Amino acid sequence: MEIIHVSAECYPVAKAGGLGDVVGALPKYQNESGHIAKVVMPMYRTKFLLENEWEVVHKGRTNLGDWWFDYTIIKEKTNKLGFDLYLVDIYGLLDRDKVYGYADDSERFTAFQICVVDWISVWGHQPDVVHVHDHHTALIPFILRYCYKYQHLANIPTVLTIHNAQYQGWLGWDKSYYLPPWDPWKWGMLEWNNSINPLASGIKCAWKVTTVSWSYLDELKHSANGLESLFEYEKGKCVGILNGIDTGVWDPAKDKYIENHFTSVTSDEGKKTNKQILCDTFGLDPQKPLIVFIGRLVGEKGADILPTVISDAYYYIGRKMCFLILGSGFPEVEEQLERLKQLSQNDYNVYIGYNESLSHLMYAGADYLLMPSRVEPCGLNQMYSMRYGTVPMVRRTGGLKDTVIDYGEDGGYGIVYNWASVGDVTHGIWRAVELYNDKKKVKSIRDKMMHLDFSWETSVKQYIEVYRSLR
Ligand code: ADP
Repeated sequence: MEIIHVSAECYPVAKAGGLGDVVGALPKYQNESGHIAKVVMPMYRTKFLLENEWEVVHKGRTNLGDWWFDYTIIKEKTNKLGFDLYLVDIYGLLDRDKVYGYADDSERFTAFQICVVDWISVWGHQPDVVHVHDHHTALIPFILRYCYKYQHLANIPTVLTIHNAQYQGWLGWDKSYYLPPWDPWKWGMLEWNNSINPLASGIKCAWKVTTVSWSYLDELKHSANGLESLFEYEKGKCVGILNGIDTGVWDPAKDKYIENHFTSVTSDEGKKTNKQILCDTFGLDPQKPLIVFIGRLVGEKGADILPTVISDAYYYIGRKMCFLILGSGFPEVEEQLERLKQLSQNDYNVYIGYNESLSHLMYAGADYLLMPSRVEPCGLNQMYSMRYGTVPMVRRTGGLKDTVIDYGEDGGYGIVYNWASVGDVTHGIWRAVELYNDKKKVKSIRDKMMHLDFSWETSVKQYIEVYRSLR
């Protein structure tokens, strides 16, 4: 099958979170299993663009409402990512350093989607599936089905994968003229709560919808940032498929970001050396258990309760553990976490920002990874941490619920708690400190985790089944 993935992110070209990891890995494993998967994404001005060779494959001209513009599609020449990678360049819109966060993001991603469809419309053949990811590309199923200019593409099956339903890309109806002329009888396919809602439109118009874990799909029927009833109504075409991890990139035995490699056999030594490096760098005591947090400092991730959790843990449990935080997000959370540094007794530090190599070292060197998420569609961090022998401490929600079993249960290996509340998380920390003293137990948990299979193989098969069901 020929599958075209359309996404705003793809690692290592541009990544802001889990979406990038998934789109950088899934097509590679689909190709390995004998299919032809390609990725199309915006041409941001990232390091990857400057360091690789490209050829121009298409030049076109289209419009966003009354603004006419030229666009260019370039292709990476060497297939170095394991799939054909195409970038869409729109001068003045996509030629930016960052993926998101601009006032004109609606215009940027709407124009991007129009270009992708416009380009596909001049191909001599049709792909078997167009697979779009999250709200930035979720208008494509509508454009393919209901825009007059692209009616000849209306029979191309589309799949929408929802990596995060919190963000929906809302547009005012005053911007409806951005889209190429469309059948006005179909306005309901764009509408949700008096605005154009690209994610809702994708759910209505895509032939199939997938979410990145089974539990998340269940939860969306009760909590989906306003789309609950739509998920309930469309449940017949929704499927949960758990993400895998790219075991080529995330492998403690050959990770390019860390110097001290290890396997499950050498994990004691390997983790100790990596922990020592982290502790030396951040002024932490290596004798104490090291608990880390890696991620966006936003409410969804429970980051706002971290400052209180850390203070409470020191107060109620004692200064028996170290914390190291890596992330960026809400300024007030960043500020509170920075301020805690003043109270550190060689047991706390924070790095505000995005740092890929530091994240790898943290997965490798930490004893525990804390994830007090309120919402976690799949979560990749817990899977990375387990592969690196680091015990995940997770809230029982979404993909965390589907991938981590509490070590108190039969065959378990993580620390799981029910609520993203200060009390529940602090209790989890107390359990982590207790567990740390039982070296034999830690070793057996680590062995178990490092042998868990989170590879893409099973998920790739499930995606192919979904595509086949559309033929
Ligand atoms: P999200 O909701 O942010 O997409 P995921 O768990 O699906 O969450 O994916 C998070 C990915 O982003 C992981 O690869 C994680 O290591 C990475 N990540 C998040 N924040 C940072 C950061 N500040 N520095 C480096 N990597 C980060």
